[in-house]
Amino acid sequence: MSGHPTLSVVIPVYNEEANLEELLKRTLDTCRSLGAVFEIILVDDGSRDRSAEMIDAAVKANPGEIIGILLNRNYGQHSAIFAGFGRAIGEVVVTLDADLQNPPEEIAKLYRKISEGLDVVAGVRVPRCDTSFRKVSSYIVNRITAKVTGVTMHDYGCMLRAYSHRVVHAMLQCNERSTFIPVLANTFARHTAEVEVSHAARTRGDSKYGLWKLINLQFDLLTGMTTFPLRLLTMIGLLISVFGGALGLFLLSMRLIHGPAWAAEGVFTLFAILFIFVGAQFIGMGLMGEYIGRIYKDVRARPRYLVYEVKGESRLKRHESHSSSLS
Ligand code: UDP
Ligand code: MG
Repeated sequence: MSGHPTLSVVIPVYNEEANLEELLKRTLDTCRSLGAVFEIILVDDGSRDRSAEMIDAAVKANPGEIIGILLNRNYGQHSAIFAGFGRAIGEVVVTLDADLQNPPEEIAKLYRKISEGLDVVAGVRVPRCDTSFRKVSSYIVNRITAKVTGVTMHDYGCMLRAYSHRVVHAMLQCNERSTFIPVLANTFARHTAEVEVSHAARTRGDSKYGLWKLINLQFDLLTGMTTFPLRLLTMIGLLISVFGGALGLFLLSMRLIHGPAWAAEGVFTLFAILFIFVGAQFIGMGLMGEYIGRIYKDVRARPRYLVYEVKGESRLKRHESHSSSLS
């Protein structure tokens, strides 16, 4: 990327009538000051307040600069962002929340950073202005995510992020319905960076994430990353079975040494047999899990790989009949 890459800003909006006016003003000011061609895509995620009408008015007042996408119902923040991605044509795509917790002025920082030729630039909220429950759960989730994906990022929950168009395009090819965008983006990125961004407390409107929605989001994150929990069942089953087998052998030898009266007349033997079977059941479940995990992967039908860049050009000319032989 060179010069001023074009910019798409994608903002999911769900019942944010109290914030929209200030959000649009600050976002427009920031984008206009960048000296780049830009578009601001507002995705209304089935709001039940006046958000949709306000978006409509903003589109009319700023033709060419603001684009509104209205969804028929509430699909959730990440699906709304995906809808925005589908329409984004900028070489750089920046996402942020509509509630002004992510200051729109920070778009400039992300934009400058990603223009250096990166694929993903993630914001890290310092200091984080949320409840301590949210901060602690975020800390745990960030640590686990870093371990499983092997990519250390400090704030997966921060949606103030910039993506190259290549990464956005790859994400759009993913078919699964439950997605956690920051993690998904990292699977397709080669060069990533983090920048510190400021964070404000929510002053107007309520958080759209109740406990249940938060738990659901964490499961989206976990299942989108790995099918390891399914494999865990097999491991547990193996352990229990081995333990049962060893217990049986132990009881048998003790019986041979001490006679039939030992170990409560064979009651413990029943336990040993029980353990073996319980373990076998877990193995069975785990095996099913292995299949389910693979079915899950196939159903998602993610692109298998992403060609990052092609260097050099073959001297061979692509033959018409060859080009479509593999698909
Ligand atoms: N949001 C959305 N659909 C939803 C929930 C949230 O589009 O179902 C948007 C919301 O309007 C905001 C962003 O996602 O722009 C983050 O939501 P919120 O501020 O409530 O989350 P929190 O900051 O509490 O994590
Ligand atoms: Mg918020």
